Amino acid sequence: MIIDKHGRPMNYLRVAVTDRCNLRCTYCMPHENMQFLPKNEILSYEELLRIITVFTELGVNKVRFTGGEPFFRKDFIDLLEYTSQLEGIDSVNITTNGVLTQPYIDKLKKIKDLKLNISLDTLVAEKFIKITRRNAFETVMKTINDAMENGIQTKINMVVMDGVNTNEIIDFVEYFRKTPVNLRFIEQMPFNEHENFKSVWTVDKISNLLSENYNVVQQPIQPQSTTIDYKIDSSDFVIGIIAGFSRSFCGTCNRIRLTSTGRIKTCLYADPGLDVRALIRSGSNDAEIKERLIEAIQQRHKNGFEAEEQRSKQVFESMSKIGG
Ligand code: SAM
Ligand code: SF4
Repeated sequence: MIIDKHGRPMNYLRVAVTDRCNLRCTYCMPHENMQFLPKNEILSYEELLRIITVFTELGVNKVRFTGGEPFFRKDFIDLLEYTSQLEGIDSVNITTNGVLTQPYIDKLKKIKDLKLNISLDTLVAEKFIKITRRNAFETVMKTINDAMENGIQTKINMVVMDGVNTNEIIDFVEYFRKTPVNLRFIEQMPFNEHENFKSVWTVDKISNLLSENYNVVQQPIQPQSTTIDYKIDSSDFVIGIIAGFSRSFCGTCNRIRLTSTGRIKTCLYADPGLDVRALIRSGSNDAEIKERLIEAIQQRHKNGFEAEEQRSKQVFESMSKIGG
C-alpha cells in the first residue's frame, strides 16, 4: 500500500472514464459549446484496465467510476465487471446521473458489494429540466426505484444550490427516509464557466436547517470519509453532507483521481499531475509506471487549501473533466 508523505494510506482510486455526458447540469457544464476531447485523447479500454491493475498491485482496493457520465461510454459495463473481479478489489462503485443506467440493473445486481450513487438535484420534473437542461426526470426516478427494488446499495447525491433547490432539502429527507437509500447533500463548488454561482450552502448551513426540522444526531466521523453523517429522529436513515467546498476531511483523504485523459490528481484542488497515458504510449513497463505513481503520490499536498494556493490556474475545471 502506498502511504503519502503525510501518512495517509492511498487505497481509493476514482476513475473518470469519459469527459462526455448526456446532461448539461448548470453547475457542471456550460449550456453550449462544451469542448469534448477527441476519442484518441481519452484512455482506451486496455489502457484503463492496465492502469487500474497497476493500482491494485500498489494497494488500491476500492475503485469508483465516474465521469462525465460513465454509462455514456459503451464499454463501461465490461470495464466495471472486469474491475470487480480483479485480485485485491473489495468494492467497485459508480457515480451516475441515472439516465442510461436502468438497462444494466440486472448486471449491476450481480456485482458483489457494488455501490451506486445516483445524482438527483430536484424532485420536481420541470426543475430537473432547468438544472440539467435535458428532459429525463422520469427515467432517473425509474432507475432509482429499480435499483432499490433489486437491493443495490444506493445513495442519492443532491448538489445544494442557493436559491435553486434549497427549498427541497427537507422534501428530499421526507421522500427518501421512507426508502432504503441513503441521502447525501453536496456543497456546491465553483467551476470556471459557472453561470449561477451565488453563495455556498456549507455543511454548517445545511445541518442547521436539518436541526430546525428534526432531532439531529451527528454520527462519529468514519475514517477516510468525505461526508459528515447525521441520523434524524432516532431513525436509521443516514444523511451525509459532503464538505468538498469546506474541505474538512483532507486530513484523512485516501483518494487518487485518474482523469479521462490519464492524468493523476492527488487532490481535487491540485493541478493535474503525472501523465500516465504518456508513459503508456511511450512504452513504459509496469514497474516504471509504478515507480512514477509512487513518486507522484509522495508529492501530495497536505490539504486542499495548500493545493489551491499552489495551483497554476485559479479557475476550476468542470467536475466532468476531473471526475467529481
Ligand atoms: N455524471 C455523473 C453524475 O452526475 O453523477 C458522474 C460525474 S459528476 C461530475 C460526479 C458528481 O459531481 C455528481 O454527483 C455531481 O452532482 C457532482 N458535481 C458536479 N459539479 C459539481 C459542482 N460544481 N459542485 C459540487 N458537485 C458537483
Ligand atoms: Fe453530466 Fe454529471 Fe456533470 Fe451533470 S454533473 S453535466 S450529469 S457529468
